[in-house]
Amino acid sequence: MAEQAYDPLVDDYPAPSVLDPETYWASVAGPPPQDDGAIQEGVEVDVAVIGGGYAGLSAALSLARDYGIRAIVLEARSVAWGCSGRNGSFARISGGRMPIAKLIKVYGEEVGKAYFNEMLQALNGVRAIIREGEIDCDVQPDGVYKVAAFNAHVEALKRETDLYNDLVGYPARFVPKQGLAGIHHGAEAHGAMYFPDGFLNEPA
Ligand SMILES: Cc1cc2nc3c(=O)[nH]c(=O)nc-3n(C[C@H](O)[C@H](O)[C@H](O)COP(=O)(O)OP(=O)(O)OC[C@H]3O[C@@H](n4cnc5c(N)ncnc54)[C@H](O)[C@@H]3O)c2cc1C
Repeated sequence: MAEQAYDPLVDDYPAPSVLDPETYWASVAGPPPQDDGAIQEGVEVDVAVIGGGYAGLSAALSLARDYGIRAIVLEARSVAWGCSGRNGSFARISGGRMPIAKLIKVYGEEVGKAYFNEMLQALNGVRAIIREGEIDCDVQPDGVYKVAAFNAHVEALKRETDLYNDLVGYPARFVPKQGLAGIHHGAEAHGAMYFPDGFLNEPA
């Protein structure tokens, strides 16, 4: 059967006969970790984790390393076969698309701050996994720009920067259009909010 892209939101899980689609990340990641094959008989473990993506692998790692719990990861295809091996490679302080201003408006200041801090902690968790595991994943230098693609968005981005500074205590910085020369090439950048934390890496 031909290879097929798979979207967990709309597709059934592919049958074993469906070949893996090629991905750029898999092609540059080097040989995959050794696969110890299908389970042939009953195995005694404390926790069975279903799915060998970031969530399953980091959960199993933490259970074993931090709590001494015997965990096994059961993966139907291969490690990082799903979204974890096919994503955009951005590691950022981000948990969704809702801007911080709206988050605070809907859920209040305390929840907004707690949410932000949890996202920052998650990013630091990713850093720690890479550092402690000595994972060679081509980490790029920190620093992320959120660009105002329309002039009309500039004032909102300045207000968002102020919110990060004043409410969350995070050192985001507004960069005017002229400050982006050499950073962003293209007429569509009218200014940007700079986050000192956030990097690219090779996800697979
Ligand atoms: C196109 C795209 C771009 C993205 N870009 C970014 C980005 O730039 N930055 C970012 O932070 N996030 C990004 N994401 C999101 C990020 O990749 C996911 O949030 C993350 O990989 C989810 O990890 P996971 O372990 O929960 O799921 P997955 O990586 O999808 O892992 C689930 C695993 O479970 C296995 N599985 C499923 N069912 C079974 C079963 N019954 N038995 C055994 N195994 C099973 C699957 O084969 C798969 O390997 C992107 C996602 C997509 C799709």
